[in-house]
Amino acid sequence: MTTFSPLSGTISERIQQIRQTLPASVRLIAVTKQVPIAAMREAYAAGVRDFAESRVQEAEAKQMQLQELTDVTWHLIGHLQSNKVQKALECFQWIHAIDDLKLAQRLNRLAADQPQKPQTLLQVKPLPDPNKYGWTIADLLNDLPALNQCEHLNVRGLMTILPYGLSAAEAVAAFQQVHTLANTIRDQHLPHIQMQALSMGMSDDYSLAVQAGTTMIRLGRILFGDRVT
Ligand SMILES: *Cc1c(COP(=O)(O)O)cnc(C)c1O
Repeated sequence: MTTFSPLSGTISERIQQIRQTLPASVRLIAVTKQVPIAAMREAYAAGVRDFAESRVQEAEAKQMQLQELTDVTWHLIGHLQSNKVQKALECFQWIHAIDDLKLAQRLNRLAADQPQKPQTLLQVKPLPDPNKYGWTIADLLNDLPALNQCEHLNVRGLMTILPYGLSAAEAVAAFQQVHTLANTIRDQHLPHIQMQALSMGMSDDYSLAVQAGTTMIRLGRILFGDRVT
């Protein structure tokens, strides 16, 4: 795995440097969990229009403080608890981590009454990883008919987070597996499941995800520095 190099430059310079290496088809999403408002404004000033948060509550608080940034798209990237689904629908335009059928069905039911429908991604694990949420490839294929009944879910593609400690070659192969799965699903032409988006790649592995054809990268530390955990 490519390791994360020490940060240099301002947030805006880092964003510009990374953008220069990205194909135009890749959407850079700034992961702003634990990131102060001032740093988010700096990212916005550098052209970022996509912010991602892991927690509904943190996003809600920041949205209050950033109300004047009306053209931002908000992405939820963390595991969604079932008691937060309604709030998540109100706060986020994209929900990246639909990770099981029950959650998908609950979201679908609540989204039915929602004026603004979310766009969603299904979280998949190309490699076994007991520490992460998400479908295995086999389980996702099994659940597709039921997911296709969820007409308010607006499934747009797949999301993945790779396990730690892979070599670059292993990581590219795993990302490619997810890309291939998206193509396989797309070929089924299910009316309520689209597969044009792939949310793959974080600070340590985004360039490998780009090689494997991702359309969205989720960058936190490489833009804003280490988080206090
Ligand atoms: C925190 C987080 C990221 C960003 O990770 P970095 O290593 O800081 O780039 C991306 N995706 C998800 C799901 C996350 O929780």
